[in-house]
Amino acid sequence: MKTKICSKCNTFKNKTEFYKNKNNSDGLCCWCKECCKRYGKQYRINNVEYLKQQKKKYYKQIEVQQSQKCWKNNNPDKVKQYYKIWSDKNKEKIKQKNKRFHNNNPTYSIEYRQLPESKELRRKRNSNRRLTDPIWRLHKNLSSLLRYHLKRIGSSKDNIPLFKFLDITAKEFDDWALQYIDKPCLLCGTSLDVTFEVDHIEPISRAKTDEDVKRLSNPIDNLRMICKPCNRAKGSKY
Ligand SMILES: [Zn+2]
Ligand SMILES: [Zn+2]
Repeated sequence: MKTKICSKCNTFKNKTEFYKNKNNSDGLCCWCKECCKRYGKQYRINNVEYLKQQKKKYYKQIEVQQSQKCWKNNNPDKVKQYYKIWSDKNKEKIKQKNKRFHNNNPTYSIEYRQLPESKELRRKRNSNRRLTDPIWRLHKNLSSLLRYHLKRIGSSKDNIPLFKFLDITAKEFDDWALQYIDKPCLLCGTSLDVTFEVDHIEPISRAKTDEDVKRLSNPIDNLRMICKPCNRAKGSKY
């Protein structure tokens, strides 16, 4: 069939006389091109004011968007600040959104971590944080110590996060760390220009099982920070 009836003017017309419309089963509009054109023209005449308003609104919107973009580009610090305030207020919302995203894209974070640019970013951020955030630095050091000792005893848990393995909270850890940050060595009173090291009060070298490592790695019960000379002098004595 090369023709089709227009439901507006009830005339049989060649199919080329109809505009395409994917929503219809034959892929064509119900009205012929001529009727569509006529209707459109009439609609524009009947709605001059309304269409004018719509157009105005549209351009206004673009203008606002552009000036916002411009402002954002010129004030990156303020944008950061606003985002910080907003994200502090919407922590739960963000958490839920991230959770949803990771549920829908279970392999995303694994794949993302493998990207060279994300590795580079992480390396930069970490080395920066190492210099500026002593609590975080301690956390990193203890994590790698923990991993080392778990591996040494052949444990299968050597990938577990520090706090989870030790069964302590971030707050407990912070309180523990703050006893040592910017304080002199508690054994010899040496000031801070000497390197400080983690001392296991009861030596961790005695650990044979996961439970031993957990007990002897617990900062609150068995760790303290002392200066390097004191730590070397102590050796593995208890
Ligand atoms: Zn028609
Ligand atoms: Zn000391």
